[in-house]
Amino acid sequence: MSAIINGNYVDFDAFNYYFFTSATSSFRDYIMTTSTSTHPLRHWINLALWKKIIIAMALGVIVGLILGKDAVWLKPIGDLFVSTIKMLIVPLVFCSLIVGTTSMKDSTTMGRIGIKAIVLYLGTTAIAISIGLAMGHFFAPGAGMNLVADPINAETVKEAPTLVQTILALVPANPVNALSSGNILQIIVFALFLGVSLALIGDKGKPAIAVFESLAEAMYKLTEIVMSLAPYGVFALIAWVAGTYGLEILGNLVWVVLAVYIGCLLHIYFFYGTTIRVLGGLSPARFFKGISNAQAIAYTTSSSAGTLPASLAAAQNQLGVKKGISSFVLPLGATINMDGTALYQGVCALFVAQAFGIDLSMADYFTIIITATLASIGTAGVPGAGLIMLSLILSTVGLPMEGIAIVAGIDRVLDMARTAVNVSGDLMVTTLIAKSEDQLDEEIYNDPTTANNPVANG
Ligand code: ASP
Repeated sequence: MSAIINGNYVDFDAFNYYFFTSATSSFRDYIMTTSTSTHPLRHWINLALWKKIIIAMALGVIVGLILGKDAVWLKPIGDLFVSTIKMLIVPLVFCSLIVGTTSMKDSTTMGRIGIKAIVLYLGTTAIAISIGLAMGHFFAPGAGMNLVADPINAETVKEAPTLVQTILALVPANPVNALSSGNILQIIVFALFLGVSLALIGDKGKPAIAVFESLAEAMYKLTEIVMSLAPYGVFALIAWVAGTYGLEILGNLVWVVLAVYIGCLLHIYFFYGTTIRVLGGLSPARFFKGISNAQAIAYTTSSSAGTLPASLAAAQNQLGVKKGISSFVLPLGATINMDGTALYQGVCALFVAQAFGIDLSMADYFTIIITATLASIGTAGVPGAGLIMLSLILSTVGLPMEGIAIVAGIDRVLDMARTAVNVSGDLMVTTLIAKSEDQLDEEIYNDPTTANNPVANG
């Protein structure tokens, strides 16, 4: 959304536009046309969304540290933002997947894209956990802790589902149940079946397809509006995290945090950056700029499923990925692709082994890589899911479950970083697939003016 005001090019985000035009147009006119170009509100209105989010995060940390535990009073504002995002997930995924499926020219295209997506998602996850193991080895965060395992604690850990259970749970016995309970993997499977069937019945399917297309468009618009509220939600959530955990959360576990964070940064900026350049022939700088809003939402909400609306907006509006690809590959990625989670599990497995003085063999390392890669398929894109799956990894290589309790104290801080990686990975694979399928609008991808604007090309 943009306008020329007083000879200046101004772009509003959706919130500013809707708020100021519908509620207080004269106030908006006053702010936007006032001769005092230094008016703080005017600066805020003109600021790109990602800049607002970064300012909100910094302010949130400061306010959280000042308020301490009282920062919990701000949490409802963050919860409200998260709820508005969650509100979008089921209808957005369902409608956009059906539209995506019916817009595929033939089912072989679908199968080819699906296979490409799964191979890339699992391949990058295996690399992520290897980086995690390397970080755990290099930083040795648990060295010298000399903890002693107590088998009783093993009882308290919630069991992770087996691979067979994960696969069996893909098909919903009751699709309405899957929709109402928000089981994304089952919703994806049902939407794919429904989309293919609608496409197969030809003319008879057209009215229903038109309804889903209209609903999907409405959901994209609603996403823009909700995304413009991000700075306020992000501020409240960060203030709560900083106030609740304070700086002491970093205490003894500072090395675990460092190892995970450095691993995540390497994975995003080195591995994804190189891959997007080498496999896609695309500019990594443009890619990182385009995904920055989605990364910020992922970091603060710790939910890749919750970030899906922002990821879809980033892929379509900023990276130029066509809806046919993004509406299929991104929900799949938000559900099965967990690079950051795998990386974190690599660091934590080594941390626990070091803390309890247990030596791991090469075979153990290999087992961790395979288990974490497969476990990522069954990891839900919600806060804390990775911690539950960590129990699967620890038990597979015979490491003590107390490790879970130790890591749990700082899990939120780790969850934030790993979720940002998960979402970046989804977007990287989606961009690569779009490029390989000739479904990437490189004009949008390379256009610097679309980078920070949630409503550009919408
Ligand atoms: N919170 C992560 C996500 O939503 C999953 C995890 O806990 O690792 O991607």
